[in-house]
Amino acid sequence: MSGPTGPENTKGQSGLFRAALLGLCPKCSEPTLFEAPARVAIECSGCGLAFGKYERGGRVSGLFTVVIAIILIMIAVAIESAFRPPLWLQAAFWAPVTVGAVIYSLRLFKTVLLYAAFENAKDTSE
Ligand SMILES: [Zn+2]
Repeated sequence: MSGPTGPENTKGQSGLFRAALLGLCPKCSEPTLFEAPARVAIECSGCGLAFGKYERGGRVSGLFTVVIAIILIMIAVAIESAFRPPLWLQAAFWAPVTVGAVIYSLRLFKTVLLYAAFENAKDTSE
C-alpha cells in the first residue's frame, strides 16, 4: 500500500530468503508472488507487476529440482547406513522433508532470479 520504497528497502540475502518464504512481490512487497507452493503467479494482484515477464528460470528449475532430490537421497542413504532406522520411520520423515526442501528451494531459486531480472529491468529503464 506504500508508494516507492524508501531508504529502508530490504536488500541482501536475508531479504531474499524472507521474500522466497513469504512470496513477496519485488515491487510492492505484497505476498502475491506465488499462486501455488512453487509456481510463480502471472502477475501481482497488488500492483499488477507482470511476474511472467521476469521469470526466466522455467527450464533450469527442473534440473535444479533433480539436483536437490539427488542430494536428499544421498543424505538419506548416509543416514540409512549409519543408523539403520526402520523403513516406516524413514518414509514418515523423508516424505515431508523432501517435499518441503524441494518446494522451498524452488521458491528461493525463482525468487532470486525474478528479483535479479526485476532489478535489471529497473536499471535499464532509468
Ligand atoms: Zn506487487
